[in-house]
Parts: sequence; C-alpha cells; structure tokens
Amino acid sequence: MKRFSTRCVKIGDIEIGATSSLKIQSMCKTSTQDVCETVDQIIDLYNSSCDIVRIALQNKKDILSIKKIKETLLKKNINIPIVADIHFYPKAAIEIIDFVDKVRINPGNFLNKEYFFCLIEKCKKLKKPVRIGVNQGSLSKDILKRCKNIPCAMVESLFEYLDICFKKKFFDVVVSLKSSNVRTMIDSHLLMVDKMKKKGYNFPIHLGVTEAGEGIDARVKSTIGIGYLLSCGIGDTIRVSLTENPKMEVIFAKKLLKEVKDKSILKRKYLKKDFLKEIFHFKKKDETILCLKDIDTSDKIYVEGLKDLKEKKVSKKSIIILKNFKEGFKEAFKIKKWLTEKKMDLLLILSFEYKNMTLASLEIGILFLEKIIDGISFKNDANKYLLYSILENTNDINIKTKYISCPGCSRTTFNIQKVVKEIKEMKISKSKKIAVMGCIVNGPGEMKGADFGIVGRSKNRVDIYEKSKILFKDIDIEKGKKILFKMLGKK
Ligand code: SF4
Repeated sequence: MKRFSTRCVKIGDIEIGATSSLKIQSMCKTSTQDVCETVDQIIDLYNSSCDIVRIALQNKKDILSIKKIKETLLKKNINIPIVADIHFYPKAAIEIIDFVDKVRINPGNFLNKEYFFCLIEKCKKLKKPVRIGVNQGSLSKDILKRCKNIPCAMVESLFEYLDICFKKKFFDVVVSLKSSNVRTMIDSHLLMVDKMKKKGYNFPIHLGVTEAGEGIDARVKSTIGIGYLLSCGIGDTIRVSLTENPKMEVIFAKKLLKEVKDKSILKRKYLKKDFLKEIFHFKKKDETILCLKDIDTSDKIYVEGLKDLKEKKVSKKSIIILKNFKEGFKEAFKIKKWLTEKKMDLLLILSFEYKNMTLASLEIGILFLEKIIDGISFKNDANKYLLYSILENTNDINIKTKYISCPGCSRTTFNIQKVVKEIKEMKISKSKKIAVMGCIVNGPGEMKGADFGIVGRSKNRVDIYEKSKILFKDIDIEKGKKILFKMLGKK
C-alpha cells in the first residue's frame, strides 16, 4: 500500500511528511513551571530516541518556563523540537511561537478565530508549523449537534481550521484526530484522508489513540489503531499515549514501528458497523476457541494455508482452523478470498502461535477489523487477557472491565498513575467502563462513554461522575477517591 503522500513540514531541524521517516513524539508529564524537572524529563526522552516533545501551556508563567526550558536545552546542546500544547488560552499560542518549534491547538477549545488568523500570519513569517489537533473528548457542542456521527464531527472540526490555513496559503500544518475508541480513530482518519484528497490537501498526519490507559490494554489499543493506519499507508508521526512514564511511550512506539510492515492487502475502507456484541467460548481438552458466532465445533479442519485447505474435504459445517503462524497473516487473507470466490460460508479461526505480543496485537487486530477471521483459538490461558483486549478493541463487545485514562501532563491535577493503579487492583463488574482523567480538557467528553469516573478540576480537587453526570463537584482528591471506590465496589 502506497503511503498517503504528504508535504514536508519542518519542526525545528526535523522534517516530517513526504519521504521522511516516521517520527516518534511524547509529552512531558512534569509541571511546566518546574524547569529543572521538565528539562530532565526531556533529556531522558531525547536519550530514548524521542524525536519531538510536547509541553502543556496553561498560563503566563508557563510561557516564561517554556522559554527557559528551550534555552536550557540548547545550552546543553540538545536541539529536540519543542511543541507548546495550547487549550483554552489562544493568545498564548501567538506569544509562545517565538520560543518553540511548533504549537498545537485544539479546535474544540481554541475559542477565538481572530487569534488563529494572527497565529498563522506569525507562523508564516517565522516559518514555524502549527498542529491542528482534534480530540474526541473535547469536541464542541455545536459540532456534535451538526454532525451525524463522531468520526464526521472530528473531521468537520478539523477542516474548519484547515480550510482557513489553505485559504491563507499557510501550509506548515500538521493534523491529528484522536479518540480513545480504536474504530472511531481509524474511521475518522479514513474519512479525513478522503476529504484531503478531494480538496487537494496533503498535510502530514500525527497518529495516536488517546486516553489509552496503561499496561497491556493501552499497548493493544495503540498497536491496533496506529498500526492499522500505518499499514494503510497513513501517518507521518506517532505517539503511544500511556498513563506511565513518558519514556515508556517512546520505547513502545519504537517496538510498534518495528512490527508495522507493508500490509499491501489492506484496502483502506471504512470499518463495517455490523460487529457482533457477544463473544462465544468453546473449550475442548486443551484448546479454547473465542468466536464471534455461536458454532458447532464438531467438524474442525486444521490447515497450514490455502494450498493445504484445497486438498481437504470440507462440509457446510466445517470450521477452518489456520495453524502454522509464520505466514498465517497472509494465508488468512488468501483463504478468505478463496472462500468468498467459491461462495463457501465457512468460519475461519486463527490459531494463536505468537511469541511477540506486539505483532500478535497488530496482525490479529487487522484480521478482525478487516473481517478476515471469525475467531481465535489458543492453548495457553496466559494469552487470554491479550486476546480479550484485541477482541474488545476490534468489536463492539465488553468482555472485561474497561479502563480509560489520559496519559497525564502538566495540567493533571492529581497523581493519575497512582489512582489508575488503585482502581485496577479492585474487583469491578466486567461490563463496566471506568474513566480516570487528569483535567477538564478531555475529561467531561470522555465521561460520556464511561459508567463511572474521576476528572481533575484544580490542584488535588476532582469531580466524580456517574455516566456523564457530575455526582460530586470540586471535592478533595482523597474524599473523591473514597467515594469513587465505594461506588465501584457496590456496582
Ligand atoms: S486530559 Fe489529561 S493529558 Fe489531556 S490535557 Fe488534561 S491532564 Fe493532560
């Protein structure tokens, strides 16, 4: 699959888009005003081969701090591009662009188009880029009202600003569309690329699944979302958002980039919405099958590929189990194509034989999203959690408790990593979705899809949510945690 051909945009000394290599980004999780700690974190990221670092900017003091951070880094001969991340403070974008290599604005809270005109005029003169970064959690009410679904709303929100840039002949623009839902993230990008092509735009694309959480779930989410799009030839920079130390984001991003190959079989089509909402388990001896359909497992045919299958006798009830994993990914596509051509409505199950969990998430994720396989079989129960996570992110099902948490940044008002850990240690009903969000930028938006949640309001003050309703507003974090844990324990 040919990469979607984007234009070259320079961020400091680094080029992104066009023929340049994929770049890795991360974001500081320190207080922006703590210059020493932030500089240390950036050096740590730089030494881990991070290409671009973002810093949150919320007030006047942050502007001075970012200026100092950049100067300190340059004195230490560290010339990593620094991006200022702006929310609710449009004026700051115009001030800070003198000192940083790029600014990121969020159309959901940039609130003043006049400032945007000034910003792009200044960026034109300075030859510095802007990222227009849309986030599902902070879409405006007006956009949500106007659009028929979330991917459309995200694209609409982006193009309001992108069209202005194009009209004003400002082309140093990078775009991003982030969602905590993998399928929404993928569909919005496919929609955006189609629209860009129609309009003759070619802005570089930054990829990321936002509010992905931590641990295995977060890695599976990012692998499927980012990996699927890269495999479709879409994307110029990536960020793996983790509610962990930012260095872990870079380490995993490198791992992910290593596994993404040219999956030339992908068609870059919108994901079908007819995903099933249930998963069926079949266990016989030491083999478990997780399938999206209720099946009769009495006639299982084990094959090593299409050639092998053609030599086997199959009946209408046969279930094909694809073994031998080395070429399994490609063979699955071949078998599906052959079955479709022969009009044989047989189920195809992939046998799990992976040692590399990132590759497993990527390939199984793609096979489910493309509707190539109907299920997965495995012998070792240790792989069950990973497979549940892949199935949840590629289908509309809840098999285990779902956690959403933002990666945290300078805006985070409480110790988010600690709260996420404490919640994950609790026994919570399997079908529930819990959200832990560091601040109000994306917090209220993410609560819309969650059953319970906690959102940072100000330093060590939080709001406690049930569904999208605030039950307790602006309370102390310790009190908030107690209330939330009690609620989670009861339900
Ligand atoms: S939601 Fe989390 S990551 Fe996003 S701005 Fe707020 S604290 Fe930072």
